This record gives sequence, structure tokens and C-alpha cells, in this order.
Amino acid sequence: MPVSRQYWVNAFYWASDEHSLSPFMLMKFYIYTFGCQMSEHDSEYMGAVLLEKGYSSTEEESAADIILVNTCCVREKVEHKIFTKLGRLAKLKRKNRELIIGVTGCYAQLAKEEIKRRMPQVDFVLGTQGIRRLPEVIDRLRSLRQGWDAMPKTDKQLEGFPCGFRRRSPVQAMVTIMEGCNNFCAYCIIPFARGRERSRAAEEILREIKEAAAEGYKEVLLLGQNVNSYCDPSNNSISFADLLIKIHQIKGIERIRFVTSHPKDFSYRLVEVIRDYPKICNHIHLPVQSGSTRILKLMNRKYSRAEYMEKIAWLKREVPEIGISTDIIVGFPEETEDDFQQTMKLMEEVEFDGIYSFKYSPRPLTRAYQYPDTVPKEIKGRRLMELQGLQKRIQLTKNQSLVGRVVEILVDSVSKKDPYALCGRTSSNRIVNFKGGPELMGKFLRVKIVRAGPNSLFGERV
Ligand code: SAH
Ligand code: SF4
Repeated sequence: MPVSRQYWVNAFYWASDEHSLSPFMLMKFYIYTFGCQMSEHDSEYMGAVLLEKGYSSTEEESAADIILVNTCCVREKVEHKIFTKLGRLAKLKRKNRELIIGVTGCYAQLAKEEIKRRMPQVDFVLGTQGIRRLPEVIDRLRSLRQGWDAMPKTDKQLEGFPCGFRRRSPVQAMVTIMEGCNNFCAYCIIPFARGRERSRAAEEILREIKEAAAEGYKEVLLLGQNVNSYCDPSNNSISFADLLIKIHQIKGIERIRFVTSHPKDFSYRLVEVIRDYPKICNHIHLPVQSGSTRILKLMNRKYSRAEYMEKIAWLKREVPEIGISTDIIVGFPEETEDDFQQTMKLMEEVEFDGIYSFKYSPRPLTRAYQYPDTVPKEIKGRRLMELQGLQKRIQLTKNQSLVGRVVEILVDSVSKKDPYALCGRTSSNRIVNFKGGPELMGKFLRVKIVRAGPNSLFGERV
């Protein structure tokens, strides 16, 4: 997933005078987020915890008393970006010695010593599970002027989130259903950063979603590294499909999305549930990684090209409106031109609606780190460009075929390009831009598609 710089803390506009007596009232925080939706959700959680404690958020880095850098470690490039960011923050700290800088998340979990060695200006480092200790750590820093790094081992069972949890988006509530991963794909560092798979109790997940519905949220996004292997720890008979059906019964929730599904665990039963339960969106993110069975085997993905294509065929047959997105890695060790062409062919066959594509990046601790990184940088670059070019053409053709159609969207954000425009998403996760005022946020609307680009659609209200 792309690296994002988040200004989401500004969305906490309703964090107001309920904290007016707090001694922390004047302290402001700013959070940078690198990484996937799970990192974003962790940032959301940390922001909520700080607001509960009486701190307030700011959109200006220079006005902040506390700056948190919530990190990712999936690709090496992100590491460079993290250190560039920390280098800039170190300069700020030279001007303002009271500034508190904390590094949290996946990279913090794995590289505490490296961060402290290279960036002595950093006050504390919190690992992926340590973020729950954020308020304690900051209190201690402020009262005793003493740093403390929290690197607890991953929880056996996931704790619940605080009540009245304040969220980034006014429309979509992200809800963690599981954490960690047992798959050990040969290239992937996540099982080392996030630990083994742990599912949250279904009862707690349902309670959190009911609360979100009562607060007016219409959409939930269920989060987990491998949601298909969800298994209720208190009652083993509740599978992911069962959980979806229970969520479907919650009044007020109109749309249910989830990421990420591992193809090896993606079952026909899940296809039926998507087909039969209308609130479950017609969108699936099913990372394929490569179109070559030989490379999939080296990647330890535990499915073949043919098995992946069979699952795509189920989806297209049972849910014709389905939007399918994927992740692809180019230049994995030993990937030949022929392997790469098989990936290109698979893309033409599936016609994905969106892809996240990456050059292979060797990561310490992973199995593939032992393999020679055989594909030269220039070839990785060329393959990535070819693949992205093909995908752009596929998306443009697919989006253009929608011109003239009327679709239903849920309005969820303001357009980045045009302040007078809003964005909504179709059930299949297509972005539609249209003219409208902020009063439409969170509403379902019907729009006619009048224009299409490769990444989004443009519509008019009907
Ligand atoms: N749990 C999810 C995704 C995790 S990371 C899943 O299993 O699909 C998101 C994506 O980053 C992966 O799908 C993969 O495409 C990419 N990725 C992970 N490690 C990588 C590496 N070492 N080099 C390049 N891309 C990588
Ligand atoms: Fe990483 Fe594979 Fe687990 Fe996804 S399934 S988090 S790619 S090890």
C-alpha cells in the first residue's frame, strides 16, 4: 500500500471543550503515518487516546508539542523516508527543546536500537503492541523527564478499544478483527513486526460496530492481515463468513468492506456471502503477487496461478458487479521475463479494477533475504512501468464503459483537486467525483457517470 502522509487528526473537529479543564489542554500533537490501513488505524487509535487524555490535535507540525511518526517496514524505501522525516524533526527539536518526538509501529518494533543510535533526538520508541501504552509513556516523559521504550511481546488476545473511540472519517469506521500473520510469505516482514495471528472476540467486534452505528457510521472496514482465517477465540465455530453475517444484522450499518483476503483461504462460502448479503460490498482485494506458479511457490504463497484464477471465476460468475483489486510484486528473485509475462497475461485475463504494484525489496529476517536478489534494478523498474502502463489502459477502458450509467455512491470525502467537489464510492469501490456541498457527506446518492479517467469517474446527481 502507498506511503501516506496523514492529516487525519484534523478530522477530530469534535474534540472540544469537554477537556477544557485538563492540564494538557495546551499541548498539541501531530501524527505522521507511513503504511497501510492498519497503520492508519493505529494512528487513529493513538490520536483518540491522546484526545481522551486532554491533548489536542494540530495540523501544523511547527505548532505541535508532541510529534509521533507511526512507521511501516514493508519495503526498504519506506525506511529511508522515515529517517528523512526524523532528520527534519531533529532540526525542529534543536529550535524547540521541549518538543517530544516518538516513533511507533512496525519499523519501531524491529529497529529500536537503530532508531535510537541514528536519531538521539527521539524521546521514545513504541512497538506495534506498545501503542496502547502511549499515554503512560508521555506522562512519564513530562513528569519525570524520563524516556521509556515499550516493546511488549504481542498480546495473546487482542484488547478492546476504548468506548466512544474517535475516528478519522465521519463515514467509515475501521475495525480491527485480527492482527498478526502466520503465513510467512518469503518476502514479507510483517509476521516479524506484528507477531502471530490473533483474532478478536466476535462479541467485542460486534459491540464496537454497534457503537459506531449508534454514532452514525454507515460503513465499516474490517481490518486484518488475513481476514479469511478469522476465528473467534471464545467460540471456534464463528468463522469470517459467520462474522460478516452477524455484522450484516446490525441496524444502521449499510456497507461492509474488509481487507485483506489471502487467496489460499478465500472460500466459495465467502463468495456466496458476498452474493447473498447486500450490505457486503461488491469489492474484493485479493493480492495475487505474481502470475507465475513457479514464482508463487518460491514466494511461499501456497496457491497456484490456476487456483487463483478459479477463485476469480467464482467471483465473476456469482457476483457479476464485483470490483477486484490486487497487489503485485515485480522482480522477485529468479523472476524471468517469461514469469513476468505470465503476470501481465493474468492481469489481462482478470482485468483488475485496481492494483498496488511494487518492486521486490529484500527485507531482513525473511526467507527470501537469503536468496540472491537476481533481477537488476533497471529490469525491475522496466517491468513495473510496463505493468502499470497495462493496468492504466485496463482501468481506463473499464471506467469508460460506465459512462452514461447511473450508480449509487456513499459520499465519503472532499475532492483533493476541487474544493467544490465531493467524492463517493460505489459498492465496487470506484471513486466518483461530483459537485456538491458538505451537507451531502455520509449520504447515499445516485449519480450519472459523465466522464471517466483511469483512476476515477466524474458524475452528476440525478
Ligand atoms: N497481508 C496482506 C498485505 C501485506 S503487505 C496480504 O497478504 O496481502 C502489502 C503488500 O506489500 C503485499 O501484498 C505485497 O505485495 C507488498 N510487499 C510485501 N513485502 C514486500 C517486499 N519485501 N517487497 C515488495 N513488496 C512487498
Ligand atoms: Fe505478509 Fe504474506 Fe502475511 Fe500478507 S499473508 S502479511 S504478505 S506474510
